[in-house]
Amino acid sequence: MKINFSKKPYLFNLSKKVINSKIKILNKKGWIIQLKNEKNVIGYGEVSPLKSEHLALCENQLDKIPKQINENIIINEICKLHPCIQSAVNIALGEIRSILKYQNNYDFDDIHKTAILVDSNNILDELNNLKNDNTLVNKEITLKWKVGTLESESEEKILEKILSEINNKVKLRIDANGSWDRNYANRWAEILRDNINLDWLEQPLAEDDLEGLKELEKKIPVALDESIIKYPDLTREWKGWQIRRPSQEINPLILLKELQEKKGLRIISTSFETGIGMRVLNHFSSIQQTGPTPKVPGLALRNFPKTILFSNNPNDIWKFL
Ligand SMILES: [Mg+2]
Repeated sequence: MKINFSKKPYLFNLSKKVINSKIKILNKKGWIIQLKNEKNVIGYGEVSPLKSEHLALCENQLDKIPKQINENIIINEICKLHPCIQSAVNIALGEIRSILKYQNNYDFDDIHKTAILVDSNNILDELNNLKNDNTLVNKEITLKWKVGTLESESEEKILEKILSEINNKVKLRIDANGSWDRNYANRWAEILRDNINLDWLEQPLAEDDLEGLKELEKKIPVALDESIIKYPDLTREWKGWQIRRPSQEINPLILLKELQEKKGLRIISTSFETGIGMRVLNHFSSIQQTGPTPKVPGLALRNFPKTILFSNNPNDIWKFL
């Protein structure tokens, strides 16, 4: 069957910048792709590379995809393209083929239904504000804290203060984005060992230090993120938590299948996509919630502006671009 391929670029500024131990993310560039088959069935996908240095390669490859292409050819050829383009095409084809059946709405808007990405410079103030938020009384909330952004001494003091102030309704995800060495990670593992508030230490060690990560996992829950992007086979091998980013995986439909088959210890995370990519995140997250290890997804909802680019109607986004 013939497929019409179209693409539109996007650029948006985050309403709150994201700072981690490696980079600052102020804005996001990418492309929305639309595939339409001969029966006018449409599927959308989003090409959303996390690293800005990959944008030129993606643009170059997207420009070479013909406007009309045979479905079998696109399937055979996409494996040569950047993982984010493969992801977008597989998602769009999944929609055309009704493998992906989206709902019109998903229920992640309330602040406690996703992890709250806190500002590392003001985490204690944010914690106080959340404590005083009447809508959150008796609700479990999950804080995602990006560490490795301040001096380690002050981060340890902040950790002590947090642990002394929170009750068992507060969950913590501590994301070092690969910035710690083994000694330092062990120090935090000792402090946090058997702590009931901790969900996991996220990518505490460099993406390549798989041996160190495995050792650390024996002491404390370790979630892999950057390691999985670099070594996708870890999705089959890593027995602990996996941070899964559909827009960075060459075939997110495999992740969809894993979730449908009730494989646990997978958590869905944003790569700062528009409403098109967010629809995928919402859909996958809603299935994750029905699995054996339900956990709120990491959608960073407070970091997005409220514009039509984040509509839950993909046709509105397409028309707007
Ligand atoms: Mg992470």
